[in-house]
Amino acid sequence: MLSLRRRPLAYALWALASLCAVVWLTYHGVHTTALQTAAQQAAATVQLQARDLRSSVEKFEHLPSLVGAERTLSDLLRTPEDRVLVDQANRYLAFAKARTDVAAVYLIDLHGRTLAASNWESATSYVGQNYRFRPYFQAAIQGRTSMFYGIGVTTGTPGAFIAAPLYLGQRIAGVVAVKIDLTAFEARWREAGLQIAMADAQGIVFLATQPGWRYRSLRPLPTPVLEHLRATRQYGNIAPLTLASKVGTLADGAWQTLTIDHKTYLVQTQAMGRFDWQMLLFSDPAQPRRQGILAAEIAALCLALVYLTLALVWQYRRRQVERQDSQRALAQAVSELDARIAARTAELTAANDTAVQTGKLALLGQMAASISHEISQPLAALRTLADNAVAFLARDDTASARDNLRIIGELCTRMGHIVGELKAFARKEPARLQTVSLQQVMAGALMLVEPLRHASGTRIATDTLDFRVWGDPIRLEQVLVNLLRNAMDAMETQPDRLIELRLQATETHVNITVRDHGPGLSADAQAHLFEPFFTTKPSGKGLGLGLSLSHAIVHEMGGRIRADNAHPGACFTLSLPRAPEPNADPPPPP
Ligand code: ADP
Repeated sequence: MLSLRRRPLAYALWALASLCAVVWLTYHGVHTTALQTAAQQAAATVQLQARDLRSSVEKFEHLPSLVGAERTLSDLLRTPEDRVLVDQANRYLAFAKARTDVAAVYLIDLHGRTLAASNWESATSYVGQNYRFRPYFQAAIQGRTSMFYGIGVTTGTPGAFIAAPLYLGQRIAGVVAVKIDLTAFEARWREAGLQIAMADAQGIVFLATQPGWRYRSLRPLPTPVLEHLRATRQYGNIAPLTLASKVGTLADGAWQTLTIDHKTYLVQTQAMGRFDWQMLLFSDPAQPRRQGILAAEIAALCLALVYLTLALVWQYRRRQVERQDSQRALAQAVSELDARIAARTAELTAANDTAVQTGKLALLGQMAASISHEISQPLAALRTLADNAVAFLARDDTASARDNLRIIGELCTRMGHIVGELKAFARKEPARLQTVSLQQVMAGALMLVEPLRHASGTRIATDTLDFRVWGDPIRLEQVLVNLLRNAMDAMETQPDRLIELRLQATETHVNITVRDHGPGLSADAQAHLFEPFFTTKPSGKGLGLGLSLSHAIVHEMGGRIRADNAHPGACFTLSLPRAPEPNADPPPPP
């Protein structure tokens, strides 16, 4: 895989080279096999055709001897000038020719002169012609039956000549010759879709389906042969030209190849036995070549398909690897991002803590101004009261001095309260957040306000429901006490005093409402309620710190506080993040 990724060109070249090799091997193998199969078929065909031709000639082999048995012919040989006998012989030969379907039958005397012929009536009659120079005549007067193929010197038409001696007693007195027309075979072969040529012992083609090939020699003829041809006038005056320009073999000798007129043919040759002829069957080399090419194409296609499949598989696997790589990279990026988020969150938390602290300090600064204002008056009073006490003591007015000291004590207590309230808020450590049961917080707050409630005759209606919130129980108690006290203060002048303390929960938050039935919040109070030292209460009664501290505490716990007019009365709502109930599924994170 890796090396493939690194050297795709090498693999492509390798694939191409193997493709070429497979294509060539397939072509070669299939072509050779096809050639051999075709050679076997062609050999069978040419054998059949040769047998057919041979039997067609052989059936006339004994015809000259048979014809020569007729008395008229021997009589004529004895008295060649007898006109009546000539006429009888001519008629007889014409009859024989008509019955046997040969081209001509004729009688020749020992000098080679034709005495009678089947074609005696035609313009190209053999009668009177001398065939002494013909080899078949020469063989016959020597007592042999011979076969000869040539072009008729009289008629100019080709044919096979069979001649036999005619005996008078023991003596050869003449020759009977038969001419057979073989040109009909050419048409027959052509009709059968075969390309055939017949060549004689010299290799001269005398029958051919391709007319241009006739009377051309398969190989160059030596001079004596040419001279003999001229003497026997076998093919008239034709001096055969060489037919094949190149001769070779193919498919381990299964085929001979001949190149004729720039075209190469596959050739199967069949010898014609004693006729000394050979039959040549020509085939087109394109057919086996086409089979080879087709097989090579199929092989190339299959191999290309295999390569394509391999390439697809490789690409698919590479994609998979890439996908895995990118998934891994993504996972790494995500974890890096997580780490960075965590780091940033930590930074932000630290910054936030600082900000909270800074907020507190700002609030403190604001408070400091108010406190200095708030404390400077009692301090001045203390100064005066202390000075007066000294003066009273100098005058031995101990009663007045005691009064002054008592007031001083009260003022100190009051200032102590202010400082105490601030101390709780100014602590640096954050609220200890925990799961808090609101029923417990409410019980604690109610216990703290019980003396005041009892003294003022206020009724407080509560729920028995319990919810849990995230918070600091002590500070939460402080907030509730504040709200309950304010509510009781607000209803101070009313005969009927009722506070409703209710709990209400959503999935994520719990709301605690403290509702009184007092005069409600003035517009001025609503605008400045949560500011430090805002109070409408007489001096000594309220410091104006309760709601601003409550506001800060609730915010520190992640909650909210708001004030509304409920007509009648005011309604304060604390909203705190809800904590999971014990033995219950935790709520979804906020
Ligand atoms: P303090 O109680 O010391 O005045 P707080 O911050 O608790 O300080 O209250 C500020 C002011 O808000 C009170 O002086 C009062 O005017 C107004 N206030 C608070 N609670 C109520 C209430 N339930 N009804 C009417 N006014 C209220």
